[in-house]
Amino acid sequence: MKFLPVFDSTRPILIAGPCSAETEEQVLQTAHQLVGSGIQLFRAGIWKPRTRPGAFEGVGTVGLGWLKRVKEETGMRVTTEVATGQHVQECLQYGVDVLWIGARTTVNPFSVQEIADALAGSDIPVLVKNPVNPDYKLWVGALERLYQAGLRRIAVVHRGFSSYCDSKYRNVPRWQMAIDLKQEFPDLEVICDISHICGRRDILQETAQKAYDLDFDGLMTEVHITPDTAWSDAAQQITPPRYQEMIGQLVRRNLTSDDPEFLRRIEQFRSELDEVDEELINLISRRMQLVRQIGEVKKQKNIAVLQPERFRAMREALSQRGVKNELSAEFVSLFLEAVHQESINQQERVMHAGTRE
Ligand code: PEP
Ligand code: MN
Repeated sequence: MKFLPVFDSTRPILIAGPCSAETEEQVLQTAHQLVGSGIQLFRAGIWKPRTRPGAFEGVGTVGLGWLKRVKEETGMRVTTEVATGQHVQECLQYGVDVLWIGARTTVNPFSVQEIADALAGSDIPVLVKNPVNPDYKLWVGALERLYQAGLRRIAVVHRGFSSYCDSKYRNVPRWQMAIDLKQEFPDLEVICDISHICGRRDILQETAQKAYDLDFDGLMTEVHITPDTAWSDAAQQITPPRYQEMIGQLVRRNLTSDDPEFLRRIEQFRSELDEVDEELINLISRRMQLVRQIGEVKKQKNIAVLQPERFRAMREALSQRGVKNELSAEFVSLFLEAVHQESINQQERVMHAGTRE
């Protein structure tokens, strides 16, 4: 797939506006206060997909008229979330500039197909948020459905993933997945929705900086004139002045430099890294060799593969060692789980050799 840009070449791309359109005044005041912040696109949800019924589900069609006023009065392009063919029709009628597909919709191929069918024949740009669960193919699948409907101006938004683990984030970012998308589709613009990743104001700036450092093309941020009284996602929204301040403090770094000294030093570190990576793989292979030998012994004595006590003790000891050595507890835990899973798979293979295969 070859995509066309949704935005002009200005970087970073800035998208901001309230989580939800609540009243005409709230939408217009927020928009007017954002003028001059360098925003390419003003966002506001008209139809809100809420986790549980009874919460504020959006003002509906009347809000499209408010977005039209935003366009007329500020000159900013506007975007809103669509989840059905009917939403698409209405947005096209009201001249919404860009549509976005939310995380709870990307996850459902029937819904994405319905939207793609409704969009066929139009060339309106569409932003596709990642699905709620970290499924790369499902995300790409949504892009393919739109592409097959003839759309080319498509960009993606990384808004993090639902997780049942405790985390400082509302939706845990999987930076690598966005980087993979960029690698597979180099002309795809990749935006980071810091608000839905963080779920809280105090870590928005550090998360935005991280997105910049990873060379995301831009940010989507929820901005509200009075965030504390917002009808949805109050904890993560910020005021227009705070937004301007945050954007002003972010540091945009260059992708590379042609300074020979810089290049020489980077090259040195990289070749060292390559060596360390090779060592890592060799070490893990050695571990697996031992694991297979243990498997043989267990097989002879008919002992179970999984030894929960032993794994718990090992995890405990290594987590402490990792944290002492400046590794995050989250990383150590993920790493050990992956190693342990591979060990179990290898032992299972030993146990069943000659029976299954
Ligand atoms: C939103 O942008 O307000 C929204 C509902 O986002 P998401 O689909 O990422 O949850
Ligand atoms: Mn929101």
